[in-house]
Amino acid sequence: MSAVTATETKYVYGFPEGSREMKNLLGGKGANVAEMTRILGAERVPKGFVITTEACVDYMKAGKAPESLDGQVGEAVQKLEEETGKKLGDVSDPLLVSVRSGARESMPGMMDTVLNLGLNDESVLGLAQRTDNSRFAWDSYRRFVQMFGNVVHRIPGGMYESAIKKIKEARGVELDTELDDRDLEELTATFKQIYKEQTGEDFPQDPKEQLRQAIRAVFDSWNGKRAIEYRRLNRIPDEWGTAVSVQQMVFGNRGDTSGSGVAFTRDERTGEPAPSGDFLINAQGEDVVSGVRNTRDISELSEEMPEVYSQLIEILEKLEQHYKDMQDVEFTVEEGTLYLLQTRDAKRPAQAAVRVAVDMVSEGLLSKEEAIASIDADKLDSLLHPTFDPDYEFESLARGVNASPGAAKGKIVLTAEDAIEKAADGIDTILVRPFTEADDVAGFHAARGILTSEGGKASHAALVARGMGRPCVAGASALSIDLEKKEVEVGGRTLSEGDLITIDGTTGDITADDVPLVDPEMNPSFKTILEWSDEIRRMGVRANADNPEDSRKAREFGAEGIGLCRTEHMFMDTDRLPKMKKMIMAVTEKERRAALDELVGLQQEDFEGIFEEMSGLPVTIRLLDPPLHEFLPDRTELEVEITKIRASGEGKDELEQMEKDLRRVRQLEEVNPMLGTRGCRLAVLYPEIYEMQVKAIIQAAAAVKKRHGEAPMVEIMVPLVDFERELEMMGEMITKVAESVDTEGVDYLVGTMIELPRACLVADRIAKHADFFSFGTNDLTQTALGFSRDDAEANFLTHYLDEKIIEASPFETIDIDGVGRLMEIGVEKAREYKESIKLGICGEHGGDPTSVHFCDRLGLDYVSCSPFRVPLARVAAAQATIEQSG
Ligand code: ADP
Ligand code: MG
Ligand code: MG
Repeated sequence: MSAVTATETKYVYGFPEGSREMKNLLGGKGANVAEMTRILGAERVPKGFVITTEACVDYMKAGKAPESLDGQVGEAVQKLEEETGKKLGDVSDPLLVSVRSGARESMPGMMDTVLNLGLNDESVLGLAQRTDNSRFAWDSYRRFVQMFGNVVHRIPGGMYESAIKKIKEARGVELDTELDDRDLEELTATFKQIYKEQTGEDFPQDPKEQLRQAIRAVFDSWNGKRAIEYRRLNRIPDEWGTAVSVQQMVFGNRGDTSGSGVAFTRDERTGEPAPSGDFLINAQGEDVVSGVRNTRDISELSEEMPEVYSQLIEILEKLEQHYKDMQDVEFTVEEGTLYLLQTRDAKRPAQAAVRVAVDMVSEGLLSKEEAIASIDADKLDSLLHPTFDPDYEFESLARGVNASPGAAKGKIVLTAEDAIEKAADGIDTILVRPFTEADDVAGFHAARGILTSEGGKASHAALVARGMGRPCVAGASALSIDLEKKEVEVGGRTLSEGDLITIDGTTGDITADDVPLVDPEMNPSFKTILEWSDEIRRMGVRANADNPEDSRKAREFGAEGIGLCRTEHMFMDTDRLPKMKKMIMAVTEKERRAALDELVGLQQEDFEGIFEEMSGLPVTIRLLDPPLHEFLPDRTELEVEITKIRASGEGKDELEQMEKDLRRVRQLEEVNPMLGTRGCRLAVLYPEIYEMQVKAIIQAAAAVKKRHGEAPMVEIMVPLVDFERELEMMGEMITKVAESVDTEGVDYLVGTMIELPRACLVADRIAKHADFFSFGTNDLTQTALGFSRDDAEANFLTHYLDEKIIEASPFETIDIDGVGRLMEIGVEKAREYKESIKLGICGEHGGDPTSVHFCDRLGLDYVSCSPFRVPLARVAAAQATIEQSG
């Protein structure tokens, strides 16, 4: 491959030329095979070369392969022939290769691998002679013709399957393995006939032509439907392209001293520091991962092939030490010789991720920082997922492989489409299938959990579910699934589509009972990770909580205060709403104040409860935000009710009040309430409401101080400020109220929510009147983008994502270029005026790892999120600190 001229791009790399750092160019699979060749030695990894992603990109751009590609591939093949001492298409001892696709990030199911390439009508005889196994040779050839047709030319697999079925019937046998070499030769001829009918061409006999077509097919698969869908779901850029690896074949199906398997350096479900995996004797790799045959546990390999087993264990250890991460490998044993075909960082559920991270620190393999950085903070959520209530006795229907942890329940659906449809209606489902394929992946997102009757913990279903953090029970062979009738038979019972089913991916349990699900105990490794995170992180983490119960939960999860306490619901419950209504209906200020007087005591109780739970920690209370008409009955309902009463004459006593309500509703109703009389605008019109709330807050703080001696740390937050003067007015009002009540000397801060673009732009002026700012990124996103969240999510957001107009929902991850820029200006301006101003964020973004990283870069003092996201935010904040200092 040295013959590449200076002007030619180098498109082909021999394995020894590559390394793991070259992932972008060689794809993950190619780069790691190259890396393994270097660290394990060339005899452990079948030889080969990689065609770069750049070749694929150039191919896509030009609509044809780069001029020099075939020449470079030809040279690489020649070199491979020299190294292996075999020749492609050779009649006596042919070189056979696999053609494998591999993008920068692994994309399961993008394109199937073509095995045994190089076989033709002549070399099949060579293979038979060389292996002294005619059946093996013909079986390899017919598999190749089948795979080549299916993968390269998209000939439906069913055509081959029915040909197999036919010949088995003709021979009166049941199993593929009962067909002899003659049968397989005949089958190969039939397959070639199918190929000719479908493509209009003879099956290519020239191995170079086979290779040429296979390489182009891999390139084309990058733009296949499955690949595009996968990229969309996983936010992988279209521009990357895929690499193609060409590698000498090794055969796990050459008898009882051969086999194939997958292995993890540690248990991939629990993270326990012991290798795990599956294998099959006398089988090729595809047989293990496809879930067609029932695999055996890797520990049994020590009895079957003790020497191979100990070599494998040694290699696993070596790989893990080298990669400093848990690995997931594919291996094949050919007549007693062990070969490694693939290694990659193992996908793992959160419980395994935290266990591995903590263990690797104590093993001296990683530093605390590296350990924390190794965790996918987004997935930690699943550690807080429910399990079956241990006290509930359920009737077990069956038990499958515990493939991805967490319990889930929902209505049975049997197709991905149904799962998606039901999810859109807000219905929880469990996707039940014999096995899953790439096309089902969208259904994984939509379903609460996945249940399959075939496959094991390395099956497609298990892998994808774990990757996504969805509970999954796989290989529940007691289930017999009828996709046509949409029924599932198990243990003598028939469940239909729409029936309830409950699964526990941690234990493998399956039941039709409505088992209560309970919150889990805190995982000890996770606890350690959280402690380390707290040592490391710069930013504080608070919670959004509106009541004492949520406050307690937040504290348990490690919240260091409340970043947002909304006060709306304090007006909403049944005994308060009438009082609130009276206040809104009041004609004079005096009437309004009288109505508010009835509410002040109740609100004070609410605040006392929260202050007590959060003693010693700051509590940010936001004054009333929503427009007043939201507290009145719905307009249409009122109108219908009034019409009914008028018509029937029944309920006349209430009529007058209802008519009055309706008039007020109409009066207060706004064309666009989101941009109407909300937030502090409300208080500019009706100052009494905020006065009452401030009075309740300060009296509550004073009462708690009196009771416990310690004063709560009160932060009063004014919503929806646009103008400096608004906050100034509110500040004056708050001071006045505070002076009018007995404060017991409690102190408080006054700040504002920054949630309008204008506020960001004039943050310096607003800062004059504020002790703190909290970015309300939900409203800031709505107002900066001009998106109403409800309308966007209901009507166009998914299209925007599909069309790649936006990369992520701006309501989940901060739109850094727009909203983020406004925040940046806000921070700059605020600090310009007041260096010491306290800055935080209280939108839901505060619990999104990417947004947390952004907040850290901005220099915010804290993030605040829902109580359940607090642990995740603590880890994300630590990761942000590590990233900043690295
Ligand atoms: P996937 O991404 O689906 O795992 P791979 O390229 O890794 O695709 O290959 C699919 C199967 O074929 C795997 O089980 C792998 O071990 C096997 N395989 C690939 N190349 C070879 C080879 N050179 N010799 C033997 N088996 C191979
Ligand atoms: Mg595959
Ligand atoms: Mg693989």
